[in-house]
Amino acid sequence: MQYPQPISKLIEGFMRLPGIGPKTAARLAFYVLDMREDDVLDFAKALVNAKRQLTYCSVCHHITDIDPCRICEDNGRDQTVLCVVQESKDVIAMEKMKEYTGLYHVLHGCISPVDGIGPEDIYIPDLLKRLQDDTIQEVIIATNPNIEGEATAMYISRLIKPTGLKVTRIAHGLPVGGDLEYADEVTLSKAIEGRREI
Ligand SMILES: [Zn+2]
Repeated sequence: MQYPQPISKLIEGFMRLPGIGPKTAARLAFYVLDMREDDVLDFAKALVNAKRQLTYCSVCHHITDIDPCRICEDNGRDQTVLCVVQESKDVIAMEKMKEYTGLYHVLHGCISPVDGIGPEDIYIPDLLKRLQDDTIQEVIIATNPNIEGEATAMYISRLIKPTGLKVTRIAHGLPVGGDLEYADEVTLSKAIEGRREI
């Protein structure tokens, strides 16, 4: 059976989301049709506003609604430690832990020759620029514990080491191949605590 075009459009929209197949997409689309019009409008506005009102911090590249972001602007945070993560989601995971009080640098990816992603394609040059001012004394590399994450960590470490800065890598104990964002708070906190100089 062919769906009327507005419904097919909506189904297609849902199918662009991760983990949503055609069946779930159809179920969600029909659920939306049964919702009150006001609720549908609120939902649609939330989607558009999230996209329009959010930007990336010009200092750390974390997602934010103000620039610089609240973390970079917070003078109460330890300005001498910088934690390098792959994605904004990782900053949120780290912040949930409530133990880390330093700053962040979001790479927006990792080095992956297979996918044609080199150091220049993520915010590595920008990281080096940030380190030129002498405030930061330790760089904690918290890229994901998989091949690309490790390679990225090694690459960054090799660049930074000669400057005499302390470079550490979060401890293993994170699920290998897993993403930082899925680590529970205790595991993540232990991984930071047990970081080792590389
Ligand atoms: Zn920031």
